Order: sequence, then structure tokens, then C-alpha cells
Amino acid sequence: MRHFAVIGSGPAGFYTAEALAKAYGDAAKIDIIDKLPVPYGLIRFGVAPDHQSIKAVSRRYDKVAEGGTVRFLGNVAVGEAVSIEELKQLYDGVILATGAPNDRKLGITGEDLPGVVGSAAFVGWYNGHPEFAGLDPLLDGAAAAVIGNGNVALDVARILAKTRAEFAGSDIVAHALDSLDASAIRTITIVGRRGPHQIAMTAKELGELGHLDGTVPHVDPADLPVAEADGALDPGTRKSVAHLRDFAQPHADKPKHIEFDFFARPVAIEGEGRAERLIVERTALDAAGQSIGTGETYAIPASLIVSCIGYHTPRIDGVPYDERGGKFANDGGVIGDGLYCVGWARRGPSGTIGTNRPDGYEVAECIAALLPASDGNEKRGGEGLDTLLTARMVRATSFDDWRTIEAAETAAARPDAPREKIVYHADWLAVLGHPQP
Ligand code: NAP
Repeated sequence: MRHFAVIGSGPAGFYTAEALAKAYGDAAKIDIIDKLPVPYGLIRFGVAPDHQSIKAVSRRYDKVAEGGTVRFLGNVAVGEAVSIEELKQLYDGVILATGAPNDRKLGITGEDLPGVVGSAAFVGWYNGHPEFAGLDPLLDGAAAAVIGNGNVALDVARILAKTRAEFAGSDIVAHALDSLDASAIRTITIVGRRGPHQIAMTAKELGELGHLDGTVPHVDPADLPVAEADGALDPGTRKSVAHLRDFAQPHADKPKHIEFDFFARPVAIEGEGRAERLIVERTALDAAGQSIGTGETYAIPASLIVSCIGYHTPRIDGVPYDERGGKFANDGGVIGDGLYCVGWARRGPSGTIGTNRPDGYEVAECIAALLPASDGNEKRGGEGLDTLLTARMVRATSFDDWRTIEAAETAAARPDAPREKIVYHADWLAVLGHPQP
């Protein structure tokens, strides 16, 4: 029997576990370990609450956890409850699927002023991540700026723009819904350091902005390249740019506005004791399509500034790290002897949920080639981990525990929501009847 520990229960972790279960059949046991008591990582805490069709992929992961080969152990913080070295002793392979949950910094003055938040924190706040649920973002001003031209920037702008009614059927947490409903924000400026042809926004997500009940998107026609130039774009970007061209046309006014501000590079955040404005430098594109400053600066009023400029993977002591890529140093998912990585921890924060499937399968196939079958020196695997956790008085949650939590969330759901997420550790453990520490 081969024993594998997958650290992280998001899409990368589940696809890898699924692939390992297929590759080894009955000849492997796989533990998916997560520091939170509940599974699904990015699906639960990252995907926008109004994108339930994307979140539905977790039903596939349920089947993996129920298949008999894969076990979920929540509430086990690797690095605290158990070290990587201990896991390597216990398992034939340890696969890091820890994602990229830390915000990249802007690196400009004023970044630490109240009112400036990273997208991981902001998204975690409205998705009920326990680390960010208490964020209480400043929504009392009339204007917000969202920095970045990727899909996360679109998520954040859309969430700030929607009316309460438009969250029907979503699983946004109640504290965020109430705050957003009371928000004074009327103008949301999406700031891109390059132009419409360089966006990383996909067409479906961009198109949603054109159908909001109370918000109208607007693009300055002067920012758009000549229409003929769109022919050189890849088909996906061309569709996205078509939406931007539509947003440059006159549309019926609505109470809120999303303004696209292209060719604007953030250089500072200013304000008396809190963010009041984002200072940007007008940019142009060089021959390689990168942004270069023109020296001209101007201020975008904003008392909430959300930077959506990408993420990095948190380091783990003793695990080689690729500083530039913000991920673990690896060669095709192999970090070193018995240690692997998948998903964003392997390749950096890009791609959709589905990108993690081939990624996980590729690494699982590589592992299966390196570790063909048990060599008779069987490791202790999950049974060894259980003994260690019991000795350390760590009470891991199981997949059945998750089902209990999920049932409690569903039972408490508001009439128009699939669930009322339980947010804090103590409340999760209370639902399970676990003794409180
Ligand atoms: P992203 O797609 O890499 O976009 C990051 C954006 O930040 C880019 O526009 C980038 O501009 C900009 N940026 C980076 N550093 C900057 C700086 N210092 N100042 C100003 N702008 C800066 O990342 P993301 O939006 O975080 O999304 C991560 C991944 O998740 C993507 O693959 C995305 O498609 C995916 N995702 C998908 C969905 C969905 O399918 N619904 C939803 C959310 C996220 P440059 O291009 O100039 O570098």
C-alpha cells in the first residue's frame, strides 16, 4: 500500500487526490489535510458567492471524498499540528496543494492606510473566511478603486456594485450582505496599468457588468484602439474587448457607475488617517506591450481601494521557494524527494478552476511513475498521523463532520440562499459537539 498526504482541500488538492486514486486503485490511501475544519478552499472562500454554477464543482469533489480511498482531515494546520518532515516520515508522498492565498503588495506609499485592502482579504470577507470575516471594509465613502485588470478585479467590482436583490441565490455571508447593502459607494473605478487589449478579463465575466440592475459600466472611447486592431487578438480577448466597446457606447444611466480607467499605474495612496485618493501615473505601451510611465499624474478619489494584482503562496519552513514566481520551487511538480506541489502552489496564480484538473493529473502520473508500487517497506500513513494528532490533542474533522456542518448551514439558510455559512472555528466545532479549547 502507498500512502499519500495532500495538503490543501481546494480544487488542486481534490483533483490530485482523484488522479492518485485512479492511478493506484486499491493500492493507495490518500489523506487530504486542511487547516480549516471545512473542505474546498478556493471554491468555498475564493469563487464569488454569486457564481454558484462554478461552486457546484464541489459535488465532484464530494464523490472523491466518498470513494473509500480518499479521507478528508480538517482542522489540522500543517506546520503547527504536524510538520512537513513528520508527514514525509509517515507518507510515501506529500503533495502541497496550498494555493496562493496571500496578496501581492502594490509596493507604493500609503498602502497601509485604513481603507486599502488586498483582494484575498476582501474576497475572504464576503465569502466568510475566518481570517478575514472581521475585516469590516470602509464602505462609507462615495468612491472605490479596484486595481487590476483580471477576473478578480471584476469579481470585486461586481460585488461592490450589486443590489441586495441581485445576491438572491448566492451564498454571500450575511455580515457582508448587510454591509454592502448599506454601502455609500456609487462610483467604482477599475484601474489598469495597461490598455483594453492587455486585459486579463474573460468575456463572460466582463459581460455580466452590462446586466447589473443598478450599475452601468463606462469605458472612455479615447482609450480604445482602432476597431481594426481587434483582429489580431485571440478570440477570447476579442470577445472581452467587444464588451468594452459596448461599454463605451451611451447607455441608460443608473445610480452606480463602474468606470474603467486604463493606462493608469498606481504610484501612491493619500489621505488624512485613511485612504482618500489613489494617485496614478498615466502610462503608454512600449514596443513589448509593457506599461511605461509618462510622468503625468492625477488623483482618483477613493476611500476604499482594493488591489487585485495577484497572489503568492505562503512559504513553509524547509521547502524551497521560487521568490519571483511566488510559489514553491519545483520541476514539473517535483520539489524534492517525496515532496511535490500542484495547482497555484506549483505554477503560480493563473488559470481557472478547471486548469487544476490536468495539472493535478500530470503530477499524479509523475508520482505514479516514480513510485510504481509498494516496495514492502510500508509507511504508517494515516494511521500514524491519527496517533500523532491524538497525542497532540488535535481533533481533526472528517468528511462526515463536514456533512454535519453543511446540513447545519443549509438548515440556517436565508430563503434566497443555498446556505448560511458558518464562519468561525468555535462555531464549526460547536455544531459538531466538539469540546471547545
Ligand atoms: P490576473 O489575471 O493575473 O490579473 C492581475 C492583474 O493585475 C493584471 O491586470 C495585471 O496587469 C495587474 N497588476 C499586477 N501587478 C500590478 C501592479 N503592481 N499595479 C497595477 N496592476 C497590476 O490575476 P487575478 O485577477 O488575481 O486572477 C487570478 C486567476 O484566477 C486568473 O487566472 C483568473 O482568470 C482566475 N479567476 C477566474 C475567475 C472566473 O473564471 N470567474 C474569477 C476570478 C479569478 P498586467 O497585465 O499589466 O501585469
